[in-house]
Order: sequence, then C-alpha cells, then structure tokens
Amino acid sequence: MKQMKHFMKLLSGLVVLVAFLGLTACGEQQQAPKAEVKKVEKKTIVWKLAMTWPTNFPIFGDAVNNMAAMVKAMSNGEMEIRIDSKNKHKAPFGVLDMVKAGQYDMGHSASYYWKGKDINTLFFTTMPFGMIAPEQYAWFYYGGGMELMKNVYDKHGVYSFPGGNTGNQMGGWFQKEITSLDDLKGLKMRIPGFAGEVLSKLGVVVTNMPAGELYTALDRGTIDALEWVGPSLDLNMGFHKIAPYYYTGWHEPATELQFMVNQAKFDGLPKHLQEILTIAMQYAAYDMYTRSYHDSAINWAKIQEEYPDVKIRTFPAEVIAAMKTENQKLLEETAAKDATFSEIYESQKAYMTKVRKWTEISDYAYLKDNL
Ligand code: CA
Repeated sequence: MKQMKHFMKLLSGLVVLVAFLGLTACGEQQQAPKAEVKKVEKKTIVWKLAMTWPTNFPIFGDAVNNMAAMVKAMSNGEMEIRIDSKNKHKAPFGVLDMVKAGQYDMGHSASYYWKGKDINTLFFTTMPFGMIAPEQYAWFYYGGGMELMKNVYDKHGVYSFPGGNTGNQMGGWFQKEITSLDDLKGLKMRIPGFAGEVLSKLGVVVTNMPAGELYTALDRGTIDALEWVGPSLDLNMGFHKIAPYYYTGWHEPATELQFMVNQAKFDGLPKHLQEILTIAMQYAAYDMYTRSYHDSAINWAKIQEEYPDVKIRTFPAEVIAAMKTENQKLLEETAAKDATFSEIYESQKAYMTKVRKWTEISDYAYLKDNL
C-alpha cells in the first residue's frame, strides 16, 4: 500500500513534468512562426533596369524579362528587378548615362550605340567582316574579350556583360538591285555603326532613324534601303511587303546586345546575389541567341511562303572588295590615333585568324560539302 502511494506520487510527478515539457514544447512551437515571419519581412532588394527597347519588344525584351524572372526565382525572392522600357524613361540612347549616374542600377542595350561617347565600345557588339557568333563568344569568354570590355567600361563605372546575340544579320532591304559600285553612289540608306561609316566612304548617304519610322521612310522613298536585323525581327516590320531585294550580310555577323550594371551597386550586393545575377545574365544571353536562330528560321519560311517574289542577293564581288578595303582603312586610321582601339583591334584580329582556321575545317567544310 505504501509502495502504491509512492508509485502514485511518482506518477503524478511525471504527469506534471510531461505537462510542463508539453507546454515548453508548445511554447517553442509558438515561437517558430515568429521567426518565419521575421524572415519574410527581410527586405527584398529591388533594382531598376532601363532598356533601349520599347514595351513588349520581342526577343530583345524577352531576354530582359527572362533574366529578371531567373534572378527572382534563384534568389528565392530576395532580389527583384523592375524593368522600364523606352516608353517609360524616354531615353533609348541614354541608357549608358543613366546606369553610369546610378539613376538605374542596370540596363540592356547594344554597346555600339555608345561609339559617339567612346569609340572603343564599338568592338563589343559586332564588327563588319568580323567574327561570327560562336567565334565571338569564344573570344569574349576565353580569348580575352571580357577583360578588354572591362577595361573600356571601367572608365564609365559600369560592368558590361554579353546580353544576347541576334546571329548573322541580313545586309538589308533594297528597292533596286546593286550590280556595281556605281549603284551605291547617292543611295540613301539607314545603317548604323561602323558599317555606316564604311558605306559613306563609298558614296552612300547614310542615315540612322528609330525603328518606328523605318517602314514609312522606305515606303515613301525617303530612303532607298535599310538594314534592321534579319527575319527574326524583320518579318514584323513588314519590309518584305515593300522592298523586293533582301541582301545577305557583311556588316553585323554576330550582333551581341549588352547588359550593363552600375559598378558601385554591383559591388554592394551580397556575393551570392552577384553570382545569381551574373548567371542569369549569361543564361538569358545564350537563350536569346538560340531563340533568334529559331525565329529567323520560322519567319524566313513565312516570308517565302507569303511573298515568294522576295529575292535574296549577295553584293557583287567588286562591292564586297571595296567595302573590305574601306573597312580596313578606317580601322587602321583609328587604331593609329587611339592605343586602346589598337589593342582591342589587334586582339580581335589575332583571335579571328586563329579561330577561323578551325571554323574552316569544321562548320564551313561541313556546310560547303552538304548544302
Ligand atoms: Ca542591324
């Protein structure tokens, strides 16, 4: 009986202990959601991006959206990037300045648009008679291109990254066939970048105008010819409805767009977000390259089906030879005046000589024998 009493006492003691532990456990459980709430309340890093392109611009704008979506998903919502199109910020060619000033944390554009501010930014988009996309990507990532680009953009307090490639661009839409050098004299053409300077040496009256004005200008004869991109983006512009000749390219063999990031802002990010942002930009660029190839194939088939009279032409040998001569002269003249220009020009030239030998016995040999 005494033992029984003792046992009951022990048992009630245990009940009290269990109840106490239970309460403690409950207490802990109640604290847990508090900790989670705290985590959710942690401030999201919100960045602003300015792009040169209008709202809902296909391919180029999609690359930017993809990058931002990847950053948000990979950072588990820790970082968000809000995108302003040119319709919002109204300064399509002011993106470098706005990122430089910190007005925007980052931007998406094309490096050759800044040639008037810094001639050496030209090299990081594409060069007439230069490398094709696989060669140029190899140069960027393994042939010293990224370091050279960093040197140029360090002066502006901006990091620059490849931002998506259009692939080889078409030489443009022409109202009349070009059969000789004489046909270039007085020809009014919209063509930007270094190629525009080459053509103006050959008598072409070169102009640049925003995308929205191109169709009307070609249709009304304000210009006789224009280049834009290739079937991927040209189809929607409708040029094939008003110009019969579509020339193959020479001037933009590998147009690479560009992501820009304000250096102080990038350096201020935690390491893991720097890594996430860098990977998202590189993947979005790669994705834009494959998307451009796909859309060009699909859209070229559509143009041929709907407008079978569109004629593909390649510039005559004497025209190509003259373009090459003028291009070479311009490059060497500028290199003689500018040490950085000379350094990048020599780097691209040396790399292209090396890499082209491989292209010759691989892709070129394969296509030449199997087309
Ligand atoms: Ca172009």
